[in-house]
Amino acid sequence: MTHLVVHQVHKSFGGVKAVDEVTFVVAPGELVALIGPNGAGKSTTFNVINGQLPPDSGDIRLEGRSLVGCTPQQIWRSGVGRTFQTAAVFGSMSVLENVQTVLMSRDRRFFDLWSKVTGYKRVEALALIEQVGLAEMAHQSCQALAYADVKRVELALALASAPRWLLMDEPTAGMAPAERQALMTLTHALAKRQRIGVLFTEHSMDVVFGYADRILVMAQGRLIAQGTPAEIQSNEQVQAVYFGRQRPVVGTAALKGAP
Ligand code: ADP
Ligand code: MG
Repeated sequence: MTHLVVHQVHKSFGGVKAVDEVTFVVAPGELVALIGPNGAGKSTTFNVINGQLPPDSGDIRLEGRSLVGCTPQQIWRSGVGRTFQTAAVFGSMSVLENVQTVLMSRDRRFFDLWSKVTGYKRVEALALIEQVGLAEMAHQSCQALAYADVKRVELALALASAPRWLLMDEPTAGMAPAERQALMTLTHALAKRQRIGVLFTEHSMDVVFGYADRILVMAQGRLIAQGTPAEIQSNEQVQAVYFGRQRPVVGTAALKGAP
């Protein structure tokens, strides 16, 4: 089984069922959007998959192996990368040094971190930076970057471990619409080219319906629907619970053609 499998996962906080009987899969190279109102359980689902939180019950499997009980570091090493909701880069370091630091960690080169980082795997680090479109900013300190570029650095850091799966919790939060589209176009291209299965949350319905291959809809801890953008658009329960009377428009082409 080459899919990332989430099977009947439960996670409660006191009396709140944050994740309730959630089951889905992500295939290699597939972009899956996890959507739902605030408090639906999206972040908790991510944190259970990446090992930050233990599930109360249920299983998460990767290539036939259960990830339950593994540390976040072990899960990262088995190919599940993540970007963070808030800027997680070292502001005082350059873009290049940030990527080199992650490469050292990946390679288990923890000794003498600060003095050795400048020379470490520069070619590989620069290639990663180029992939996210920041070649010209490699030597700038991260605190001098525009917010949208910091998000690109975060993507480069996530890609540095050569993940086969990528969890992105609100990757475009705080970005202007054009920047959001650009980051998701890049993510989409990388996922397809490198066959990375991407699970992402996102508030902008333009992004969700424009980029996701499949959409999972959560409400109050439960997965109330899953399907292609077209299936989700016409799902009446989703309409009622989530979108109200505002119908999303499927695909950017459809968006441009809308009256
Ligand atoms: P979403 O990401 O969809 O907004 P969350 O997964 O953050 O939703 O939250 C789901 C529910 O679990 C909410 O009711 C939230 O208040 C609760 N919750 C999340 N994390 C914790 C926590 N660490 N302790 C207690 N309750 C939590
Ligand atoms: Mg959240």
